[in-house]
Amino acid sequence: MRHFKLTSLYIGTIIAILFNPLMHSYAKTLENKLTAKEIQKDLLKATQIFSKGEFLLMEFDFESAAKLRNENDSLIDLESYQKLTALNFIKTKHLHLISQKYLALHMLINKTTDSQLKKEAQVSLNLFHKMLSSNNLLYKLAFEDLRNEVNEEFKNKILTSQHEESYFIAPSIPPIKSSAYKNHAELVLELRQSRKMLQAFGESSPFLEDELDQEVRFIVKSLYSRTNEEASFLGKVFFPSTGQNGNIVGLVFPKKTWALTYDDGPNPLHTKNILNFLGELKVKANFFWLAQNVIAHQDLVKEVQSQGHLLANHTWSHAQLTKLDQGGLFKEINQSTTILEKIYGHKIEFFRCPYGAGNNVERIRKRIADLGMLHVFWNVDTLDWQDKDPESVFKRAQKQMLQYNRGVVLFHDIHPQSVIASKKLVEWSKVQGVRWVKLNDIVKELNGE
Ligand SMILES: [Zn+2]
Repeated sequence: MRHFKLTSLYIGTIIAILFNPLMHSYAKTLENKLTAKEIQKDLLKATQIFSKGEFLLMEFDFESAAKLRNENDSLIDLESYQKLTALNFIKTKHLHLISQKYLALHMLINKTTDSQLKKEAQVSLNLFHKMLSSNNLLYKLAFEDLRNEVNEEFKNKILTSQHEESYFIAPSIPPIKSSAYKNHAELVLELRQSRKMLQAFGESSPFLEDELDQEVRFIVKSLYSRTNEEASFLGKVFFPSTGQNGNIVGLVFPKKTWALTYDDGPNPLHTKNILNFLGELKVKANFFWLAQNVIAHQDLVKEVQSQGHLLANHTWSHAQLTKLDQGGLFKEINQSTTILEKIYGHKIEFFRCPYGAGNNVERIRKRIADLGMLHVFWNVDTLDWQDKDPESVFKRAQKQMLQYNRGVVLFHDIHPQSVIASKKLVEWSKVQGVRWVKLNDIVKELNGE
């Protein structure tokens, strides 16, 4: 059963990759001239890719949630987890692409003087809206992220270009009513039925599976593989680089060695609570903070430093870096580093992209490496931002730690459940003989410095 599902994941990834060139040609069409037919074709296909990928991820979530409730069942294996991560990257990429195309379509309608073109674009827009507001539960759920993304995209656009582009009209894409979510069992059942309707999208061929295999392997390798020639040349495992050596995932740490990381803070309440228990339990952690929060809560910097934890950078405002132009990247990466180094009072060695997005994008990784920083990814995702139940957050983290036996754990010091869950995890880890390290210490150790 598990094998079947992972094969499905695989197919979703292949499909997503194959349609990528299509998205590029779509952008080109908009730049030059576009017809409603082309838009419809492209949007339909892109949306199918997206919903397919989204559905596969949802199904995986349900499956792993069921596993978490069953103490005796084992968690997904490492290879499958890596493939899932690869799929998630591709899905996220499509999310941005589609929302940008939608925005471009909207712009065109409000801007063009060609009435025929306007009419055609309006037809395409209506079609897109119709898809987004479908009554099919699968679509409802699958499009939730896309809908939020599109709304967010518009909000930002209008805010930044109010003066020049008054022709914008905000789209009215209604939010999903929470009643759409029934109880868990009903939902899964309904989704499985909807799945049958979707199968037409996902029919694969041996050719598709070959392509998929290659692409997934490429993404998994770029994220997770061990050192390459570059590293042995320098005699180092980690150094600022846009390749694997510039990205810490944790899979090359010694056994039972872990880095505890907290993102998105500082937060006056939750960060303090975390500091309190870390002090009691004598454990050092790594904080990836946002410049905008640090500016507002500078007292917490001194507190963290006096207790010997590591401070790192998580951008200025938690922007999704893959969506930014060079000016935006300059603010989120370069300027945030400058201001944080001033407040921290030392050079910053570690950076983490919000959502991990940009980890495999050259122009983003180059900025990070040029500033002399290593990017820090994770291999244990606690999902503490999504899951409000500290007990299940703890269990999720615990199971992954047992499975990997080394690595980087991701928490956020801005949620109450994260405080409780991470305290439980650290208490439990003490009994297990886990060594919690600061990232600068483990990098020195692995580099033989
Ligand atoms: Zn974050």
